[in-house]
Amino acid sequence: MRFDLVLDNADILTMDPSRPRAGSVGIIGGQIAAVGERGELSGYEAATTLDLDGRFVTPGFNDAHNHMQAYGASLNEVAIDPTSVSSVEEIVAAVADAAASAPDGTWVIGAGYDHNKLAEGRHPNRHELDRVSPDNPVVLNHTSGHFATVNTSAMRLARVSEVEVPTGGVVDMGKDGTPSGLLEEQAQQLVRGLLHPRAIADMVLNLGAASDQYLREGVTSCQEAGVGGILGTAEPLELAAYQQAHRTGRLRVRVTLMASVDALHGGDHHEDDDEPFALDLGLHTGFGDDWLRFGPTKIFADGSLMGRTAAMFDDYEGEPGNNGYFQMPEDRLHGLILAAHRSGWQVATHAIGDRAVSSVLDAYAEALRQYPREDHRHRIEHCGMCRADDVARMAAMGVIPVPQARFISEIGDGMLDAIGPTRAGDCYRERSFLDAGITVPASSDRPVVNGAPLLGIHDLVNQKTMTDRPFNPDEALTVEEAVYAYTMGSARASFDETRKGSLEAGKLADLVVLDRDLTAVDPDGIAETGVLATMVGGRFEYDGIGLG
Ligand SMILES: [Zn+2]
Repeated sequence: MRFDLVLDNADILTMDPSRPRAGSVGIIGGQIAAVGERGELSGYEAATTLDLDGRFVTPGFNDAHNHMQAYGASLNEVAIDPTSVSSVEEIVAAVADAAASAPDGTWVIGAGYDHNKLAEGRHPNRHELDRVSPDNPVVLNHTSGHFATVNTSAMRLARVSEVEVPTGGVVDMGKDGTPSGLLEEQAQQLVRGLLHPRAIADMVLNLGAASDQYLREGVTSCQEAGVGGILGTAEPLELAAYQQAHRTGRLRVRVTLMASVDALHGGDHHEDDDEPFALDLGLHTGFGDDWLRFGPTKIFADGSLMGRTAAMFDDYEGEPGNNGYFQMPEDRLHGLILAAHRSGWQVATHAIGDRAVSSVLDAYAEALRQYPREDHRHRIEHCGMCRADDVARMAAMGVIPVPQARFISEIGDGMLDAIGPTRAGDCYRERSFLDAGITVPASSDRPVVNGAPLLGIHDLVNQKTMTDRPFNPDEALTVEEAVYAYTMGSARASFDETRKGSLEAGKLADLVVLDRDLTAVDPDGIAETGVLATMVGGRFEYDGIGLG
């Protein structure tokens, strides 16, 4: 045996139960060929041997639910969220900086401002933006998704004063009787139509920028929650962008794509075969390779907890009569799930409210009754509120919940306020899923929150919101369980457990070198852990310490 590379003198948390800790790995052709104690592989020939000086190593992190292309796009946007700015004045200054370096005529886009948290307690207006960006169109998206503020240049491009305002939208008028620049609800479509669909070349750049950041954070695989649809962040030709990014070397982490259910359709078939419900050519879950492949189809059942639109059994706290709603009639939702299941898809349904989670489980149960299938691994994306009897149903059926770790601190306060104290124990469960024998992956839903896995692991262990309020302490995980979720759990959620998720012979050489032993740090300090280097397929794609 001759290794391409041996990493020796390391402190490796393998996630392989038969050998939880190890000291060296031998790599051949981008895959792990052997795992041993420190020095155990030194008797073999190796093209290169690196002494890791006792550093701590885990398998590469796998984000089971993210929006990579949209995240890459957000890296080019002006930071105007409450952690970056505290006044309209500061927003205008940030836009001025961005406009000064933006090529003529290109858009200046900012996202995440909250007028309630600005010193002036109001939205910016177009005149303020015109002063610093007379020629570049500007759009600033509100954190709620309900408002956008534009400048005059953007208003002209969108022909705001000429075209009819879409129903359900308002173009706000200023004191001077002309538009203030604030577009409410559906009126935002006037501008969105100019920015989407995105060009493939731009999406390739976004994927490259996202890849670089993911590698710095130890992410070696991620699962893209919906390409090719009409909802959320989906772009119609996103698959082409992923393929081009892969071909040109800009896609530097492994990606499993979920196909939006909007992109599936029936078609011609032999009479012996079921009516297909697929992408063209009958493509479905599993197609592709270790770098880029198709995972589940993605379906939306309901909305969000913080926005109080997710479908709940009981009313939101302090809002009698509001228990959220489904994104489509339940019989249509169940029909889509049945058709996708019957055609061989792994189904990933976005469900956050307890009523939506329950309804999706009903649909999975019915689909499995009509068309039994072993090892389907149907998923519930987010699975925000889950009653105890539904935890048991998920375990019995083999359904995988896909919760978001970093939601706990970044939007935990808003979620707790929306549900009130009596049902907080049902919110973003982790431990009860594990105790029931359910596979638990970890994810971020990035760009919704910061997706750095070590921040997610910190939250899974500490269970505290941004204001230091306990979130759901009974559901806390140990560090080992949280790392397991971000590695093996996520791998199982995409049928990749024979290739990813642990450091053992036969698996891909995807790993991360950290600056401390996660299992030995004070839980409060997990978030301060640094990523020193990230390896994908046997090569250090990020190397912060000169390993070579
Ligand atoms: Zn998402």
